Amino acid sequence: MCGVVGVVLPGRGHEAAGVAATALFALQHRGQESAGVGVADAGHLMIYKDLGMVSQVLDERRIPSLTGDLAVAHCRYSTTGSTVWENAQPTLRLGPRRSIAIGHNGNLVNTRELLSQLEGGKSRLAATTDTELLTAILADEPALDTVVALRRVLPRVKGAFSLVVLDERRVIGVRDPHGFRPLVLGRLPEPDDETKTAGWILASETAALDIVGAEVVRDVAPGEMVVLEPGREPVSIQYAKATPALCVFELIYFARPDSYMEGRNLYEARRHMGMQLAREHAVEADMVMPVPDTGGPAAAGYAEASGIPYRDGLVRNRYSGRTFIQPSQAMRQRGVNVKLSPLREVVRDRRLVVVDDSIVRGTTTKQIVGLLRRAGAREVHVRISAPPIYHPCFYGIDTAIPTELIATTHSEEEIRAFIGADSLGYLSVPGVLAALDLPYEQFCFACFDGNYPEPVPYDARARKFVLEEEPEAAPT
Ligand code: SF4
Repeated sequence: MCGVVGVVLPGRGHEAAGVAATALFALQHRGQESAGVGVADAGHLMIYKDLGMVSQVLDERRIPSLTGDLAVAHCRYSTTGSTVWENAQPTLRLGPRRSIAIGHNGNLVNTRELLSQLEGGKSRLAATTDTELLTAILADEPALDTVVALRRVLPRVKGAFSLVVLDERRVIGVRDPHGFRPLVLGRLPEPDDETKTAGWILASETAALDIVGAEVVRDVAPGEMVVLEPGREPVSIQYAKATPALCVFELIYFARPDSYMEGRNLYEARRHMGMQLAREHAVEADMVMPVPDTGGPAAAGYAEASGIPYRDGLVRNRYSGRTFIQPSQAMRQRGVNVKLSPLREVVRDRRLVVVDDSIVRGTTTKQIVGLLRRAGAREVHVRISAPPIYHPCFYGIDTAIPTELIATTHSEEEIRAFIGADSLGYLSVPGVLAALDLPYEQFCFACFDGNYPEPVPYDARARKFVLEEEPEAAPT
């Protein structure tokens, strides 16, 4: 995960950082560990970053001091390296050949191999992320031009990367050849004449363009680099052959429902997944309800296709973010869930279809089923608008290690018994594709079927702390 933004906005009183930070608000769901903005002003780069949510880090006291016509911004969800200040992004290198700042969404799978190519090795790194390593390699590249340097370095980089790269005079958007993570290009119109172009913006999702009044131009293609320079039209460079494999989980639940991917509005895509789920796993019930917030569209689709009324049966406690104090062991044993509360009047004596978008370890779903039963539900039928997760992700989603994924160690009937539901049904892979009306070949489905579009070397499986630990010997 992670959210990235890049902005080129000349002649508007150095507003680029403010626009980038505002767009980043719309990407907060993609990463809540840290946030940051990098700016280029008259050839000088500066970044400001810290641990915390976008609103905590990039408030109105910080933004005015981040002057410049060019900006990149990032919010982090860690998949390589611990959650410490040093690992927040954008990264920054002030070098003899070029100064660069990078925001990265995705996860590299050949980090150890790349480290072996860096002169001076780990001692040269100021952080333990794959992005820091990539920044160091790029800064070392002898070519004077950043685009040329990228063209030389990128073929050696394997895995998932949607990047925003800032140098002294440009913002460059880069998407890996598989396009695992999204990246869109938008146009910032002049406020008093929408036909005129004030600047350009890159962002992880179209929702980030909407919030700053930008117009969606198009997706950055897999294997494409888009160079944004003040006063010029974007320049497209196809630096590698595209072999598309967009993460299907982005469409199932990671990205915002108001965003568009592959020409699909994600609310509508999820509603269709819910309709398909109702066709695949029908059940007699009194009401369909979502697990808030993300189960809503699929629950609406299930209700529509099944004819069973839709109601809300759970309320999300809005401010129970990551920093919220967790319940004590005793509270947990009594089934207290700080995030969700049941609507007793709604669920009492009813047969419920409860729609959610995934089961990872199974513990959260078990808790939810327990909450609903204690609130008086007569039957609880769990429906999941995604297939079972059998395999870990190495491309930027910090899913559990294989033994923690409940589907790898339990049959569907065992999972049903573990979560305490009356029945359980998952949407099939063909069901996801039917709902999207798009071909399998366009997506990565690896966590469902194990077909990894980019081979994952053995040592990448030590992955998250690959730059903090000694390499593990591969089994013979
Ligand atoms: S393995 Fe799963 S989560 Fe990871 S990129 Fe592929 S589909 Fe997405």
